[in-house]
Amino acid sequence: MRFTLLAVLFATACSGSSTPTQAPSETAQGKAERLQIGSLEAFALDDGYIVEPNDGKAFVLGHTSEAAEVLAAAGLPSDKIRLDVQVLLVKAGDHVILFDTGAGAFIPTAGHLSKSLALAGVEPSAVTDIFISHTHGDHVGGLVTKAGALAFPSATIHMSAPEWATFRADPDADAKRLVAAIEAKVSAFEPGAQVLPEVKAVATQGHTPGHSSYEVSSGDDKVFYLGDVAHHSVLSVQRPAWSIQFDHDHAAGEAMRQQTLAQLASDHTRVFAVHFPFRGVGHVVAEGQGLVWKPE
Ligand SMILES: [Zn+2]
Repeated sequence: MRFTLLAVLFATACSGSSTPTQAPSETAQGKAERLQIGSLEAFALDDGYIVEPNDGKAFVLGHTSEAAEVLAAAGLPSDKIRLDVQVLLVKAGDHVILFDTGAGAFIPTAGHLSKSLALAGVEPSAVTDIFISHTHGDHVGGLVTKAGALAFPSATIHMSAPEWATFRADPDADAKRLVAAIEAKVSAFEPGAQVLPEVKAVATQGHTPGHSSYEVSSGDDKVFYLGDVAHHSVLSVQRPAWSIQFDHDHAAGEAMRQQTLAQLASDHTRVFAVHFPFRGVGHVVAEGQGLVWKPE
């Protein structure tokens, strides 16, 4: 059921609206923005976005009115919660690496990764490695085409052993189809493993049992690929203790979110955040009693 949770909530959120939100034109076309990690060429690739109403059901359980105040104070609409979806592409020697794959056909306002990848000049068949943070639909939906074939046929799909075990045990029909499509390509690693010279897994379980973040390093430069340790650049960073429906284990998710964000702030670590506003690159910074997101 976990695999479909997001789709179910999304469908519920959209069913009450007679005028669906128009996707920005640049999202429909895809978008790729270059960034540098030491000597490595990298890109933030736009996949689309997710919008949920601020009704206390999805991201900020039981905090609707406080969330509205926090959103308004940040200059954002207070009645909805928007998450962007972006994929990190890194070229490291012979390796062409994606971190997660966006939503594919799983969410109607996302699934534009292939267009953005083309803008970065990369053919799907050139991708050699894919690192999965966790197996929710907005991260693994892009592993397959609409027809269900592998979208990146040459790529090894890396994910943590506990995440893969959990996904394989998921009784949901969509999850079973996806597991069958990818299992020959999956290489599971132990949490925290140094998987490639440039890519080290960081165990950040809580959102899911085997959730993994990643450190991408080149020389003294480093980017921390956050995954879904935090979802919203304002709510999750400024109020990390608020429960999120999508966290498999609410208490563990909250603890990991607070601990990880505090560590990133004290270490001044450069962060790539999947769901923060495009391009999702910046720093978590201590301000007053709490933390704020400062995009690059
Ligand atoms: Zn997500």
